[in-house]
Amino acid sequence: MNATLAPYAATAENSRGRRHREAAPNYRTEYQRDRDRIVHSAAFRRLEYKTQVFVNHEGDMFRTRLTHSVEVAQIARSICRILNLNEDLVEAIALAHDLGHTPFGHAGQDALNRCMKEYGGFEHNLQSLRVVDELEERYAEFSGLNLTYESREGILKHCSPYRAKELGELGERFIKQQQPSLEAQLANVADEIAYNNHDMDDGMRSGLITLEQLCEMSLFGEQYEFVIGHYKNLSERRTIHEVVRRMINAQVTDLIDTSLANIKKAAPTSLDDIRQQKQPLIGFSDEMYAYNRELKRFLRKDLYQHYRVRRMSTKADRIIKSLFDIFIEDQRLLPPDYDGKVSLMEAREGKPGRARVVADYIAGMTDRYAIGEFERLFNPSQLT
Ligand code: MG
Repeated sequence: MNATLAPYAATAENSRGRRHREAAPNYRTEYQRDRDRIVHSAAFRRLEYKTQVFVNHEGDMFRTRLTHSVEVAQIARSICRILNLNEDLVEAIALAHDLGHTPFGHAGQDALNRCMKEYGGFEHNLQSLRVVDELEERYAEFSGLNLTYESREGILKHCSPYRAKELGELGERFIKQQQPSLEAQLANVADEIAYNNHDMDDGMRSGLITLEQLCEMSLFGEQYEFVIGHYKNLSERRTIHEVVRRMINAQVTDLIDTSLANIKKAAPTSLDDIRQQKQPLIGFSDEMYAYNRELKRFLRKDLYQHYRVRRMSTKADRIIKSLFDIFIEDQRLLPPDYDGKVSLMEAREGKPGRARVVADYIAGMTDRYAIGEFERLFNPSQLT
């Protein structure tokens, strides 16, 4: 397989390895093993009941973090093959990238970050790394999934220089301003393509945004004109799907063309060359970048701030804050294994350690589990 990969692709041979040494896999590549460990993790299964914009119980037809992660992996793998990069690695990163997300999407993450303010904050990206490095309890010989350096590097998309100091070799690139592998860069951009387009699609389906609003955006408007010009009498639903499909295709094509040109110009010959670049080599043209910015601005203003989304967000906020406060106040209300972990971490790190365990517990909850926990703790007529 490696014979067909670009010389600067990540491979088992140029891997920086795993934190705990393990024998090479018998019948899989190192990155296939990473991907398989991710698919079998508890955090991965929970993605099915976690949402991005809409809450899981609002309707079965919206994306969940699980379907989102599968879409990211699909987009990333298609591009990866054209660029002769390592598909197994890009798939592992794509499937793991959202493992640290809290319940209730962006609202949940903001709420938990506020609760954790005095204790080092909460960031879903760092939490994804924490899940694969520490929190999964599946293997006899180590905590976490013991993934390769390259998968972990891809999961840690961004990080403040201050935080980076605590992360050892994984934090180095944020201090030295180096780049991760092209596979990591690709998974990151595929995430952006996936969520921009499906938030638009889900937003339309929910009735929170209208076709007229979407047509005001240049890329959507252009594709829409083309579709209605070429196909007569299409239903609105089919028209939207056709437009979104074409938008994804336009973005993917632009990304491939621009990235190939960037790679050609930089002429890297090894994975180390990729890491030494000043800028990422995987990216959009200036024109597509501007389209995407317009799309993001629109979604932020008209979808994420929509009054119905806000009403749900304030509920989410209240649930997360109430759970955090009550568990910090009395750790005996936590399930017994977490109670034990609180004592251990508190002995080691004081109150921030205690808060971190509470944050781990809350971040691991699905939307409906968080709602159930809230009911059990605050509703007097509910049985515990
Ligand atoms: Mg994502």
